[in-house]
Amino acid sequence: MFESLSDRLSGIFDKITGRGALSEADVNEALREVRRALLEADVALDVVKSFTDKVRTRAVGAEVIRSVKPGQMVVKIVHDQLVEMLGAEAEPVDLAAAAPVPIMMVGLQGSGKTTTTAKLAKRLTERQRKKVLMASLDTRRPAAQEQLRVLGEQVGVATLPIVAGQSPVDIAGRAMNAARLGGYDVVMLDTAGRTHIDEPLMIEMQEIKAATRPHEILLVADALTGQDAVNVARSFDSRVGVSGIVLTRVDGDGRGGAALSMRAVTGKPIKLIGVGERMDALEDFHPGRIADRILG
Ligand code: GDP
Repeated sequence: MFESLSDRLSGIFDKITGRGALSEADVNEALREVRRALLEADVALDVVKSFTDKVRTRAVGAEVIRSVKPGQMVVKIVHDQLVEMLGAEAEPVDLAAAAPVPIMMVGLQGSGKTTTTAKLAKRLTERQRKKVLMASLDTRRPAAQEQLRVLGEQVGVATLPIVAGQSPVDIAGRAMNAARLGGYDVVMLDTAGRTHIDEPLMIEMQEIKAATRPHEILLVADALTGQDAVNVARSFDSRVGVSGIVLTRVDGDGRGGAALSMRAVTGKPIKLIGVGERMDALEDFHPGRIADRILG
């Protein structure tokens, strides 16, 4: 991801960094190209506009134009603004609450929700020494609960025993009770998805939320779907409320627009990124590192 954007930007910046002097027109021309590159990377139009406006305000200032290496200063301003657009600081999953801490995973079918639930459970178990219980609340897809059980075995994390015929809210209640009795630190609730957002799904998510009062509600979205991922996040947030986003398939060759627009459009931090199918292919999202990668 980001390779073509990165190539485009380095082409644009090569033209200005070697020069000892830049006119306001030179800066504006470079920014027009940056704007085009971001739009081609599928970054939301409003986000691109506000980004280039902020860069322009700083970059056409006398300080830059008159500096010894004006091109480098423009690149640095773009870098800083990229970091700001991506959310400035890394925001880890927050577990600061009374145990067992409920984490609710939401998202469309196929976004990588179940895989991410298991990846995150593994990580919390291994890196933070948490005792984690996972439960699948997906009663619509017959194989869903079994899929989580198998992943749980694979990563060495407990899953709630499957009881046929229970509703998602019943399973969630049973998971919370089992976690209290078993002395678990974290309960991860893997909810059902759909191919698209519909009313029954939103109502189900609201009911589960009301029953479990999750400390984190993480929206899992497929980065390869670009602006659709951003729209999905916005819809889930307005109906259910999300505390953070996990972008999956960042290892794929998408254009990167979802990662770049998500924070600015939804106001919610990307907390983690999925970078592969393997159970350890989950990383923290560091705005600074992503900006470094994009600007080479
Ligand atoms: P769910 O329907 O949202 O629960 O989706 P799944 O967790 O079943 O994932 C669907 C497919 O996406 C599986 O084949 C996963 O291995 C794959 N997948 C999930 N996350 C990633 C990721 O970050 N990168 C890649 N390449 N594949 C992923």
